[in-house]
Amino acid sequence: MNPVIMTILLVLGWLSFAWSIWLKFKVLTKVPKENRFDRLFERTKRTLIYAFAQAKLPRYPLAGICHMIIFWGFLVLLLRSIILWGRGYDENFSLWIFGNNTPGKIYGVLKDGAVLGVFLASTIAIINRIVNRKGSASRMTHTFEAYLILLIIWVMMVADTIYDWASIIEHAKKTGIHSAFSWNEPLGSIFSLAIQGENLTISSIKIFKHAGFWTHSSLVLIFLNILPYTKHFHVITSIPNVFFQNLEPPGRIEPIHNIYEQETYGLGKINNLSWKGIFDLYTCTECGRCSDNCPAWTTGKMLSPKQLTIDLKHHLTRNLEEIIGYKEPRSVPDLMKIEDTEANSSKLPGLEEYLVPGVIPEEVIWACTTCMACEEVCPVFITYVNKMIEFRRHLVLERGEIPGELQTALHGLETNRNPWNLSSMDRVAWAEGLDVPLASEASKIDYLLWVGCAASYDDRAKKVARAMVELMKKAGVKFAILGEEEGCTGDLARRAGNEALFQELAKSNIETLDKYGIKRIVTICPHCYNSLANEYPDFGGYYLVMTHVELLDSLLQKGMLKLRSEKGEAKKINVVYHDSCYLGRYNGIYDEPRKILNSINALTLSECHQSRNKGFCCGGGGAQVFKEEEKPRKDAGASASRMNARRLDQLLTTKPDIIATACPYCMLMLSDAIKAKDMEEKIKQEDIAEILNRFCV
Ligand code: SF4
Ligand code: SF4
Repeated sequence: MNPVIMTILLVLGWLSFAWSIWLKFKVLTKVPKENRFDRLFERTKRTLIYAFAQAKLPRYPLAGICHMIIFWGFLVLLLRSIILWGRGYDENFSLWIFGNNTPGKIYGVLKDGAVLGVFLASTIAIINRIVNRKGSASRMTHTFEAYLILLIIWVMMVADTIYDWASIIEHAKKTGIHSAFSWNEPLGSIFSLAIQGENLTISSIKIFKHAGFWTHSSLVLIFLNILPYTKHFHVITSIPNVFFQNLEPPGRIEPIHNIYEQETYGLGKINNLSWKGIFDLYTCTECGRCSDNCPAWTTGKMLSPKQLTIDLKHHLTRNLEEIIGYKEPRSVPDLMKIEDTEANSSKLPGLEEYLVPGVIPEEVIWACTTCMACEEVCPVFITYVNKMIEFRRHLVLERGEIPGELQTALHGLETNRNPWNLSSMDRVAWAEGLDVPLASEASKIDYLLWVGCAASYDDRAKKVARAMVELMKKAGVKFAILGEEEGCTGDLARRAGNEALFQELAKSNIETLDKYGIKRIVTICPHCYNSLANEYPDFGGYYLVMTHVELLDSLLQKGMLKLRSEKGEAKKINVVYHDSCYLGRYNGIYDEPRKILNSINALTLSECHQSRNKGFCCGGGGAQVFKEEEKPRKDAGASASRMNARRLDQLLTTKPDIIATACPYCMLMLSDAIKAKDMEEKIKQEDIAEILNRFCV
């Protein structure tokens, strides 16, 4: 079409894009390293499932389907852009294999299908953003750039079709042969049959053709150059971010090695984030799915995971010059809506300032329950729990700042190895009269029963431990407990940021377990399970760990536990099961508790909308059970609520007689909510083990 203009466009477009990418890449080289190049087969497999097949998106059907169409459409249209750039030099350029042949026809259909799909999807996306701005689309960020990018995509699709249509009409007018349907350009040929342009001259047709051609060819380059400075950078980074996702067990937190030799701890400043942490900031699409599912945000707390990412990203952008020695173009803060005017720029936190509270309020960090609901829904695998723990490590280990109530619990762990700070001599009081063997006395056991602090010291949770013992005895399982020698696994200390205390507790427990040659452990508490199964191996503690629901389910399956036969037509008891985050999202244990409940004839199992991986946290994880819930933000309005109260309301939609749990923290939180609602007479709250024990002979 015009080799000179095309050369100028391509050189300028690609050089400036390469410069922007170089700046972004340079940041990654200036921050701590992290190995995400292992297990390449597994990474590739997950990339195909989650990036190319977009497996996570349909959870939000309308936006998800639109996004899938735009994503797949773009993959197909990549080739089209290359072909058009080639036609800047040779009007008949078709990337060699895509001529008037079978591959050309197949690609023609795919390309025009993509054009039509992307056109419709971007139209729906724009309308959805405008119409539902205060409704379902309110979770998204509504900056000018979001509309600009959608508009660019929309115009590119229209321009592409105009170019095809005008090319066909021009050819028809030049040759005198009427245009016909063509599989090479199905959309363009359909339009050329509908609008034959009888009144148009060849030169005016050429104007349409050139307008369509240059609009498409140059908009691709403009689009490419806007991306690195907007949330749409995810168009480039999301596939690699999915590829570099965390492949470790989701519940495992990376330990601090040589902990007493470190000079700094955790995430204090933006350049403490690893390259993968920075890459997460580049990749966030600001879709808001994370905040929409965050129990803290939806109950009115200050913590919005999406906003946390945005605030960190803006802080990074402001301080880029200090990190890499170059500044991004002045227009970037405006495009990203960063309030970086001359008047207030001196007040904005610099690189050397701590992120908390300069960039992120302290309440945000302490509001997180580590429930992982945000990570479960994030389409591009951005992680939050690890960042929250790193923030807390910085506050606790480097600055000694920790909420008062948590200090008491951690003091209990230091002195008596339990957060209630009760004497370790009372640790086995729950087992009185049950004749439970101790590991120090038992000769050969199938399992060590790990009781955990809650079931050892809390009066309500003690009943779960007793039920579990009775069930194991009924099934003839040989087991023992550590008794006074058991200490807290350290989950609470680790999630509260006190890694040093966690490591001490872990090492001391491993020493005790190894002293008795323990190989198989069954836990009552999912938090203990997560530490023992996923975190103790980092300290040399390798055990086969099972949750109590897994063991009970297998004992039922093997016939080692027998259910009482229920006679008569008595009304069934309606049970709803509340998924513990540390069992479900952390360890994928969703079916076993349900299988146990379903096996009991007297029960009907109901599901509330927020169940399984959509389960809503009880508010107790991440050390929250030992501290006051953070106060609601000023604009929380009617959304302000306690998390356990919100969860109870969700469960009550099933009109249950019993709320079943499989975690002592969930039990404590939901029991409190039932009490606060004055419903203790109407609803029972029981652990799966207690329910099963009542129905077993
Ligand atoms: S882990 Fe849970 S509480 Fe924390 S940010 Fe994510 S969704 Fe919110
Ligand atoms: S972190 Fe993930 S879920 Fe949250 S806004 Fe960003 S892309 Fe969306």
